This record gives sequence, C-alpha cells and structure tokens, in this order.
Amino acid sequence: MDITAAVLRQAGATMALELLQLEAPRRSEIVVEIAGTGICHTDLSFRDGHWPYPLPAVLGHEGAGTVVAVGEAVTDVVVGDRVVLSSGSCGTCPACLSARPAECPSAALINMRGSRGDGSIPLSKHGEPVHATFVCQSSFATHALTESRFAVKLPDDVPLELAGTLGCGVQTGAGAVLNALRPRPGSSVAVFGLGAVGLSAVAAAKYSGATRILAVDVNPARLELATIFGATDLVDANSGDAVAMVQALVPGGVDGAVEASGNPLALPAAFLSTHGVGTTILVGAAAPGTQYAIDSLSLLAGRTLRGATMGLSNPRVFIPQLVAMWRAGLLPLEAMSRTFPLSEIEAALAAAADGSVVKPVLVPA
Ligand SMILES: [Zn+2]
Ligand SMILES: [Zn+2]
Repeated sequence: MDITAAVLRQAGATMALELLQLEAPRRSEIVVEIAGTGICHTDLSFRDGHWPYPLPAVLGHEGAGTVVAVGEAVTDVVVGDRVVLSSGSCGTCPACLSARPAECPSAALINMRGSRGDGSIPLSKHGEPVHATFVCQSSFATHALTESRFAVKLPDDVPLELAGTLGCGVQTGAGAVLNALRPRPGSSVAVFGLGAVGLSAVAAAKYSGATRILAVDVNPARLELATIFGATDLVDANSGDAVAMVQALVPGGVDGAVEASGNPLALPAAFLSTHGVGTTILVGAAAPGTQYAIDSLSLLAGRTLRGATMGLSNPRVFIPQLVAMWRAGLLPLEAMSRTFPLSEIEAALAAAADGSVVKPVLVPA
C-alpha cells in the first residue's frame, strides 16, 4: 500500500514527507493506521546521528492507531482494534519467557537494526529500500508495520492520538517507579528531569502512596506542570545546589530518586539526594560513553543505583495499568501533550528539542 512518511535521508537533516510503499503484513505482522505518534528525545538522538541507524529511514516510536491489516497467523488482534505500539523483544530468551521483555538482551538489535530479523525491509520508494521497523514501528508516518505481539489493545475511552506515549515515555517513567523503585506508602521520592518520563514518574510516585514527591528541574513551566502530576515540593535546580535543596526539604535525604533528565551531572545529584540506604533509578539516556562521578563512600554507605529501560515493564500487562491511572485522573496525558499535523514535523521536533512542548504529538494532516 502507499503511505506517507517523514523520511530522514542524512543525519541531522530535516525530514520531508514522501510517498512510500509499505508491504502487506507477513504471517505474524499487522499494519496500523497511525492516529498519533509522540516525539521522544530518542528520536532526536537518532536523527542527529548520536546513535547509529541505517539511512534513509523513518523514525518515530510512540505510535498508536487502528489496525487496518493483519497477517494470516495473527489471532490476538483484529482489523479495527485500537492499539498502542510498544518496543520489540525476541520472545524466546529467558527474560522474555519470564515476562520481562524490557530486559531482553536482543532488544537493542531488534529495535535498532532497521530491518526485520531476516534482513528484509518492508518499506520502499519505487524499489529503493527505506529503513523501517525503528523500535519495531517507524511511526512518523500515516501507517506502521509491526508484529502483532508488540501491539497492546486500548479501550474506547482512551484518546487514541495521545496514547502513543504510553508505549515509551510514560511507560519508562511510570515503570521506573512502579516496577523498579517500588516506593512504600508514606515514603519520599525525588524526580530529576520533568519531561514526559519524569512527569510520569511523579504521577506513579503519587499512585504508589509516596507522600513527599520532590520535582527537580531548571524549567519553571515544567515545575509548575509537575504539581498537576502530583509533586508536593518543587526544586528549581537553577537557584542553587539541588542536593542541598532536596535535603533541606527532607532532612537526611529522600528514600528514592529517579534520574530522568539525561544530564550527566543530574545522576550524581539524584544519587546523593537519597539517604544513606536510599535507591536511585537511572532512566535518562546520556550519550554513549558518558561516565558518572560518584564518590565511593556514598555508595559504600548502602545506597542502591540501578538503570531501567522501558520501565522494566511487560507492555501488555503494564499499559492497561497506565490506562487505569489515566482514567482515575492520575496520569493527565492531555496536560503535557500538544498535537502537530504530520506535515509540521519539523516544528514538532524543534519544540521537543528546545523543550517548549513536553510531548509533541504528530497527528494525520
Ligand atoms: Zn522513546
Ligand atoms: Zn528476549
């Protein structure tokens, strides 16, 4: 079928809409007509070549939409289903078989190789291959192809155009808290970096019953937004030493911290903002090769530091939980999202890069 997609032909270049040809789904695949796709900072890192991806390519990995075609072996979704797309995993390794696909050792390859496992590429322009399957979707397009097992069905009341971020940013932030940090009711949590990931971590901390939720950022508008997601205390990291400000609010330090900014200086700050046996979860992706400076005694005291990708979640179990949080008013996707027509993708990418919009969402023109 003919589709329209934003094609990246050179690292760092602008993406123009082009008419491309998408193959029919193979046995276990589906095609989804995209109703909305969020822009995540990972898209910017790949566009700019900080992370490698074969070009030309279609990026985009926070898509949601309606299933319009299914392969002959697909039984778990049908044409007409509303779905959010999540990232890929192998399905056969010990982590996948233990329902922990976020820890699949093959996930990075599967999501970033630019083709199916057999090397074939489902997208082309008059016979010229255009690398697709970015995070098993390539959703900066009117349509995306994926394996049915990476799609998660959505109930009718969820706004489809805003739901795509449940598959990456929201899942990453909320999962860092609900699946990795697991704060106890009455505990204290500090979240560093208030993008979609950090705001979702704030919301999840509130949902967990944490009673002190400290939101840390340098952007006053985002600090304000964090109150809507459940922050009890705002820490403007521009106005002084964030660690000292956190410890002034919670003497001795917080029980848990989440680093969601990707700023290499924020991880040591998050780590030191916890008390001596606190836990810090790293989800912000700094550039490959980044080293963090942590004093040995601060770790030896008993602190825990762990990283978590994709919120350590199993999307078909976890995304329905996120929907329940949204339905209860605890995950206000609407407050952080702004839609742009797909034809204005460059404006949307710029808004993500300069931080003026927390979650730009591309919708059909
Ligand atoms: Zn993402
Ligand atoms: Zn696996």
